[in-house]
Amino acid sequence: MNYSALIDRQRAYFKSNQTRSLKARKQALTDLKKLILEHQTAIETALFNDLKKHKEEAYVTEIGTCIAEIDFALKHLKGWMSPRKAHTPLMYFPGKSYMLAQPYGVTLVMASWNYPFKLIVGPLIAALAAGNTAILKPSEISAHTSKLIAKLFESFNQDLVSVVQGGVEQTTELLKEKFDYIFFTGSTMVGKIIHKAAAQHLTPCTLELGGKSPAIVDQHTNLKVTAKRLVWGKFLNAGQTCVAPDYILVHHNIKEALINAIKDEIINFYSENPQSSSLPRIISDKHFRRVQGLIDGKIVFGGQTDAKDRYIAPTLIDGVTLNDKIMQEEIFGPLLPFITFKDVSKAIEIINSMAKPLSLYVFSKQKSFIEKIIANTSSGGVCVNETIMHMTSAYLPFGGVGSSGFGAYNGKFGFDTLSHLKPVMKRSFLFDIPQKYPPINKSKFNFLKFALKRLS
Ligand code: NAD
Repeated sequence: MNYSALIDRQRAYFKSNQTRSLKARKQALTDLKKLILEHQTAIETALFNDLKKHKEEAYVTEIGTCIAEIDFALKHLKGWMSPRKAHTPLMYFPGKSYMLAQPYGVTLVMASWNYPFKLIVGPLIAALAAGNTAILKPSEISAHTSKLIAKLFESFNQDLVSVVQGGVEQTTELLKEKFDYIFFTGSTMVGKIIHKAAAQHLTPCTLELGGKSPAIVDQHTNLKVTAKRLVWGKFLNAGQTCVAPDYILVHHNIKEALINAIKDEIINFYSENPQSSSLPRIISDKHFRRVQGLIDGKIVFGGQTDAKDRYIAPTLIDGVTLNDKIMQEEIFGPLLPFITFKDVSKAIEIINSMAKPLSLYVFSKQKSFIEKIIANTSSGGVCVNETIMHMTSAYLPFGGVGSSGFGAYNGKFGFDTLSHLKPVMKRSFLFDIPQKYPPINKSKFNFLKFALKRLS
């Protein structure tokens, strides 16, 4: 495997300036949209074959989201590309300042298998909008979608977008090459490998990682709506969502009531027999065994598994302690453990004793409770009285902090992430402050000290 020819080809194309104009970027995004729409059925089939994801869920969480993101970028691109005015302090007059968003060059987009189409195409939209070329490396675990992505882009401008398929071996080779930006979505463990490889070339990167996202439920909440939103966010894609509520911290007074309300909603959404419902399956036998291994004896609902079908029922687990295996790693499956607290400060202590999560959910009718949680914890994002929806807004950046990653995307944030925001200051020849030039005597120095205080 030698990927340097592929990268050289994209770099030559980038250097020819053909990716930079508004027209070229809009054309690339329009071509991408056309490609998706023309192959919508094939994408739905691949997602079903990988995850038994039904076409409605596939559209809402992957295909439709990408179309919406492209439309949003097409609508706003001109504005995003325009020079951004900046204030010029008095000391620099006459002059003007602005920032120019410029593309990095050849980008590498790598993704995980859980939303295998969206997690490749989402960053690609940002890369193309920002005027870059892109090499895509989908996850080999979602093999059907990975193959389809490779096939679809054969008909695309290969100088602009090309696909590399494969697992660790191929990716290790690929990462030896010099990229101008790496956008990685995946686990914290592999994120460290990517960061190390990027460091060899001083390549900037975004790491969209995972973690254990808590949902804190106060005793003063709307129990029915809370249960409904938790069940929706947790069991979407069978819990294989980076921002799925990983575990529940519930006020001890309402634990039984919350568990019962959640049971009711699971039945409402997925029937008494979720195996025959639209619930997706675990991606692979390896992950099936991993998630199954986290189920222990404290099951209060669900617990059924079927290895041949890679099916794990929505499962509620009570009486969990922080030392249990299920609390030691990201679950990434349809298991929901419960831990109780009596005082909000205990809930905060538990959250802060663990790695910084990608998302945090808080359900409460009390403003003070909500604000205390937000102010005293650190997470990639927060969603109050809801799950997941904060990450789908084009007006909010989506990304992690600490172990859950760094950098962000969505709408203009993605464009900015994949652009270098270049500051430009233009001065005139008209007026020159003589005091700044050496030799600096006392009066010049006093003037400079005075001027420094007036930089704003
Ligand atoms: P992963 O880290 O195993 O794989 C991600 C990518 O890295 C794949 O393309 C894979 O081929 C590649 N890879 C795997 N091992 C590698 C190695 N040793 N060297 C180089 N490349 C390697 O992650 P996954 O299992 O596909 O996805 C699950 C994780 O991703 C979870 O932690 C989840 O929370 C996280 N995730 C995060 C987001 C987000 O937006 N923050 C979204 C989805 C998933």
